[in-house]
Amino acid sequence: VLKGTGSGSLPPMLDQYVRMRDEVAQQLPHAILLFQVGDFYETFGEDAERTARLLSLALTHKTSKDFSTPMAGIPVRALDQNVEKLLAAGVCVAVADQMEEAGTGLVDRKVTQLLTPGTVTEERHLGADENYLAAVATGDGYALALLDVSTGDFRAAAFHTRVALYDELGRHRAREVLLAPELAGNPALLSDFQGRFPVMLSPANFAEDASRAELHRTLGEVPGSLNSAALVRACGAILGYARMAQQGQLAMVRRVVRFEPGAHMRLPEAAVRALELFQAQSPQGVTLMDVLCQTRTAGGRRRLRAWLRAPLLDELSIQARLDSVQALTRAPDLRGSVRSLLYRAHDLERLAARVATRRASPREVASLARTLDLLPDAVTLLAGQDGLLAGVHTRLSSLPDVVTRIRAAMVDDPPLRLGDGGLIRDGFHAELDELRAGALAHREWLAQLEITERERTGISSLKVGFNNVFGYYLEVTGPHLSKVPPDYRQVATLKDRARFTRPDLREREREIARLEAAASRLEIEVFTELRDALSAHAEALSEAAGALAELDVLSALAELAVESGWTRPRTTDGETRLVQARHPVVERSAGGRFVPNDAQLGTGRHTLLLTGPNMAGKSTYLRTVALCALLHQIGSFVPADRAELPVYDAIHTRIGASDDLAGGRSTFMVEMSELAAILHGATHRSLVILDEVGRGTSTLDGLAIAHAALEHLHATRAHTLFATHYFELTRLEADFPGLVNLHVAAEEDAAGSGGLTFYHQVVPGAARQSYGVEVARLAGLPAPVTHRAAQLLTSLNAQGDDRRLIRELAALDLSRLTPMQALEVLHSWQRAA
Ligand code: ADP
Repeated sequence: VLKGTGSGSLPPMLDQYVRMRDEVAQQLPHAILLFQVGDFYETFGEDAERTARLLSLALTHKTSKDFSTPMAGIPVRALDQNVEKLLAAGVCVAVADQMEEAGTGLVDRKVTQLLTPGTVTEERHLGADENYLAAVATGDGYALALLDVSTGDFRAAAFHTRVALYDELGRHRAREVLLAPELAGNPALLSDFQGRFPVMLSPANFAEDASRAELHRTLGEVPGSLNSAALVRACGAILGYARMAQQGQLAMVRRVVRFEPGAHMRLPEAAVRALELFQAQSPQGVTLMDVLCQTRTAGGRRRLRAWLRAPLLDELSIQARLDSVQALTRAPDLRGSVRSLLYRAHDLERLAARVATRRASPREVASLARTLDLLPDAVTLLAGQDGLLAGVHTRLSSLPDVVTRIRAAMVDDPPLRLGDGGLIRDGFHAELDELRAGALAHREWLAQLEITERERTGISSLKVGFNNVFGYYLEVTGPHLSKVPPDYRQVATLKDRARFTRPDLREREREIARLEAAASRLEIEVFTELRDALSAHAEALSEAAGALAELDVLSALAELAVESGWTRPRTTDGETRLVQARHPVVERSAGGRFVPNDAQLGTGRHTLLLTGPNMAGKSTYLRTVALCALLHQIGSFVPADRAELPVYDAIHTRIGASDDLAGGRSTFMVEMSELAAILHGATHRSLVILDEVGRGTSTLDGLAIAHAALEHLHATRAHTLFATHYFELTRLEADFPGLVNLHVAAEEDAAGSGGLTFYHQVVPGAARQSYGVEVARLAGLPAPVTHRAAQLLTSLNAQGDDRRLIRELAALDLSRLTPMQALEVLHSWQRAA
């Protein structure tokens, strides 16, 4: 560990460090141990080099008589922000604190915190978003467990294919992934996982009997829904690991939800990325989530993300959400009141989890009370509502009265730390009141002392002071020293004054300290009792938190619909009809200049082939349709004047060329494997968006692949939008019923000027040409280059025509051709020339 120089044995402190680091490494092999040495947390040896690199710290050396090792440290007060950086970099951290003041011998130290990216619960290390730890085991297929320790959200699912597993892991953006040994031990699989997710190679225990024991310990049983060894192992392993990191405490986890990935719309990872749901493709880009996120609480925000990750398939559930959103759009007063109420709520889900584990701080309990105080108003507001809102109403009103209990015991604005005093309300606990009254009486006597002593001694300038060395003292200036009474004992002499004490003063002081320490101990006891009592309601609290989150999302969607003029979509059984649809994100940046478009898909029209110059708006159109479909299935209004949509079983996308550099696959490979997944997965109920398929390879290869893929999709009857720059494909309209050509309007400016105007308007028919050279000119390619390109293009086109002529000539069956037909062929060639 310490690749030091020198032959001597380790100094005692470093020896202690090495032992602790070894202990930590048994639980978290790659963790960095931050080791308190006075005002700094230090790291040594290789860890120092690693830490210095990760945190951009100066590397120094710890040098003793005959030993030297690298050392890097962070000031104690900068611990939090540095731990955050390490966690964000995917590094686990152990913190060893000094348990006593430094003396002459070796200081006692203890590991007080184990922090891993996927298991943190401290608010200061968490973003507002969900923070999932994941565990994967295999058996018959793949089993996935997901756990958000900060809220207690615990779920599990089984998958047949690795692709489906990846989609789910990607959607949940797991911060830390634990792999069972059968996966971690397979180098190819391991590197595939590592290329995609923050895999943590910790020795989580995936053994089946250990997992069963862990499930019993946490949930009291092995739930029947975990119906395979792989599911049991993934769930047991994740709980064991979280328990280790939480140092034994896992009470926030009360049930596991077995979810069926098939119960929701399939939304592959590629689609989540391409549609920029949570992450924009450019650094300053705006995401759909940014636009949708009108939520007022952190819980609501997390719930909205969950809805987006898992759009619904069940029409009734979609209607139920739409009904509630609509009810809220029609009741502006209700919506306004609900939203201003939510604005004042704290993160109830996380508070409930903190209460469940009995870790809530006084401030957190106060936040809990403040939030619960809002609920009666919410209940009143929602009285008489239907559907989901009625459900929210019921769940909010069935919470037992927890607030009264908190309010009775605790002051409204408690101190930051437990033990600081002043936490429990006067009058709540008789013994505490007595202790406080006692201390107060002594303090009052002290406060009076200056006056009584001035009177007694006649020294008008006599002062009572306090410092850390003598405690309370009486101070008399030089001229009055002769008047000092005999019961004063001198403790200090300054230049022009002297300080005194008196035995009874000492006595009072000791009494105050004793009473206040006892009061503080008692406060901790009373608070702990309160916290324990609250933990009995943890379940009900998390129910209420869930209801509040749902209310937040519904009212946020309603707010958005009203503000942005969105419309309630009607669910059809197969037809898509969008009138004046907009792309919700692009519309924002277009600042009123966005051109809405219509879209129609259905029987006799299930493949739309879209051509038009680059930058015309093809991608935007494709994504507009996909986003409207997605919004419909999360139960949201959609950005259009009118919208009719079926329930799609999946949205597949293949958009743009993105290099998977980390995964080491070329652009073309990525494109083809995404295309493969789509061709395998798409059904007649899917929506498929393909943008410029085949651009990653040579023109003819690309054209051939695009053509074949289009043919295949056409046969599946999936609703397909296919944007392409291969004009050759537009001819397919004649051969494939249901395939319709569209193009995005653009127009060359006055002849010869070389300019191009985009109308962003999608209109029927194929585009006449690609305007590639014109777009290149717009982009600022030097004039001689674009000029030469235009020449080359003309001759290439001519060659292409020649080739087509020859092909057609070769295909003519002269033995059957009548002279009249021959003349017609000749005539058509002449017309084309
Ligand atoms: P293409 O896929 O044809 O190359 P994009 O869809 O990427 O074109 O659009 C290019 C740019 O044009 C976008 O960045 C957007 O700013 C603008 N744009 C696209 N569609 C519209 C529209 N309907 N209304 C206004 N601006 C649009």
